[in-house]
Amino acid sequence: MNSEISSDNVSQQYQRLPQVEKLLQLSFVAPFIEALSRPVVTNQIRDALAYIRQSEEFKAQGHMCTQNQVNQQIVTRCQALLKCRQQHVINATGIAVHTNLGRSPIQRDVWDAVTEVNTGYCNLELDLATGKRGMRNGLIPALVQNWIGAEHTIVVNNNAASVHLMLMALAKGKEVIISRGELVQIGGGFRIPDIIAMAGCTLVEVGTTNITTADDYLNAVTENTAAVLLVHQSNFSIEGFTSAPDVQEIADKLPEHVKLLVDQGSGLSNESYAQEEKSIRQYLNSGADIVCFSGDKIIGGPQAGLIVGQQSLLDKLAKHPMMRAFRPGRITLSLLEELLVKKLNQVETGKGIAERVIQALNEVNQWTYSLVEQWSEFAELVSVDSQVGGGSIPYERYPNQGIALTLPGSAQKHLDALRDMPTPIIGYLRRDQLMLNLSTVLEHDKPILFNQLSHYLGNVTQSKSS
Ligand SMILES: *Cc1c(COP(=O)(O)O)cnc(C)c1O
Repeated sequence: MNSEISSDNVSQQYQRLPQVEKLLQLSFVAPFIEALSRPVVTNQIRDALAYIRQSEEFKAQGHMCTQNQVNQQIVTRCQALLKCRQQHVINATGIAVHTNLGRSPIQRDVWDAVTEVNTGYCNLELDLATGKRGMRNGLIPALVQNWIGAEHTIVVNNNAASVHLMLMALAKGKEVIISRGELVQIGGGFRIPDIIAMAGCTLVEVGTTNITTADDYLNAVTENTAAVLLVHQSNFSIEGFTSAPDVQEIADKLPEHVKLLVDQGSGLSNESYAQEEKSIRQYLNSGADIVCFSGDKIIGGPQAGLIVGQQSLLDKLAKHPMMRAFRPGRITLSLLEELLVKKLNQVETGKGIAERVIQALNEVNQWTYSLVEQWSEFAELVSVDSQVGGGSIPYERYPNQGIALTLPGSAQKHLDALRDMPTPIIGYLRRDQLMLNLSTVLEHDKPILFNQLSHYLGNVTQSKSS
């Protein structure tokens, strides 16, 4: 290694800018290469040198700069890129299914159980009994049937695909009736009216934002109607003078040529913690022909869309040419299968994150009390609400205790600093306080959160007293 640039004297002046190859060999660059790849780091170094070369400072100093200046430029660029990488973070928001934080964490033993299937070859489309080509869905339809009583199931990559496929396969060129209260946008740019149009269907709006009755649907039916679509409102709730139609009544009175399709969204099955919310099973029992929902919200599985209901209709979806674009791979299917087996066997790890969070609120409060006591100089016990989140059960709040931290300087600055930790901690602000709701902190994240925060608060104490 060149002695000039491997020297510890970082204030040393460069006569000429060092070569990229030399910089790549410096010890502080090695971890960046490991995390970002050599070519990406090489580009960052080139950019850093180009930046310095045309900086006014560099020109003013007679085309000289210090090793420190060069290193700083490289570090800043590489660190910015490192933040883009998918990485483990700690969720202290109290929102269990957090869309920005990957929705449902997959339980470790579910993940471990499918390692062999995914790191070797598998029977994804081979029928092991006959040696012929088989179906992708494997055991999933049987598992879902036992779980929520659905006649048949197909799986796609996400629930947006479920809705689109359902409409394309069953209602293209025909009318789809939907309530004005359910013409919603779900997340970034997924608008139900657009999806209906893109599937080649004609939207027929009925009712009003707050009230839509069974008759509103039934009176809108023509011979050109293919379906009534019910959509869960997902990320908002309308309260006050509202009423939802009786699903059973609609199902009973719709003529045979009109199918009742439901985008249930959240994947609530029959959990007791959201009694006002209609579950998949309730829709099926009320006579819905097809119900679709996400695999990574309440169920706690991988990103997926599950479409359940009448086999004769689902066969049409399965044969649709776009199914090829929507079908999931074995990673998704094997994880779902494993999760559902555990769910049916009532193993603890078959539960989704939302259910586990709600169950453990008491325990979390104990932990919260003890932390507030330890950090009493800054920390205060406050009432917070935990939420299922991710477009599920929008009105339900689960009260518990959280931590409000009052620290010198702006709360925003501390919120940012927590996000900048080796394992980023994601909190939130309430007025000028930094808030932590520990109900969503996973078991294996607890010691990491504790160590990082203790260290951080220790530094704050020091800087205060000095
Ligand atoms: C979440 C949700 C969707 C979108 O599901 P993805 O799995 O994100 O594609 C669609 N409809 C409803 C009602 C939802 O709640």
